[in-house]
Amino acid sequence: MTFIKTGCCMRCDEPAFEILTYQGEEDFYPGEPKKIGRPLEGSIRVGVLLLDNRRADITLCAACAPVFGPQDYGPLWAKIIRSWDREMSVITKTSERPQWFADAYSNLILAEIGRISWKELVDGAIR
Ligand SMILES: [Zn+2]
Repeated sequence: MTFIKTGCCMRCDEPAFEILTYQGEEDFYPGEPKKIGRPLEGSIRVGVLLLDNRRADITLCAACAPVFGPQDYGPLWAKIIRSWDREMSVITKTSERPQWFADAYSNLILAEIGRISWKELVDGAIR
């Protein structure tokens, strides 16, 4: 069972950005990336449309970019929910869950609506 990690591919957990530092024992998730740098070559941001009409952004590494498709939507949405659940358990240390979290169980990824390379995005922002 895996969780979404800072700067990593949301499909396979490999880095999608340079990992500059890792979390220590004093942090919430020891051993996981803490500070990230530049996007790695080929990393992309995929926009997806959700059933409730909202959109979300998915980060993928160069290896997952060409193979990501509808077969990944279910497992990825489950991973996102699992990661929110972990965040609430570890960071806010509560077992209570807000309504939006309950609603997320009946939501899902419907369709991909666009892709952009992270490098293009980051370089565009500082141009
Ligand atoms: Zn990947």
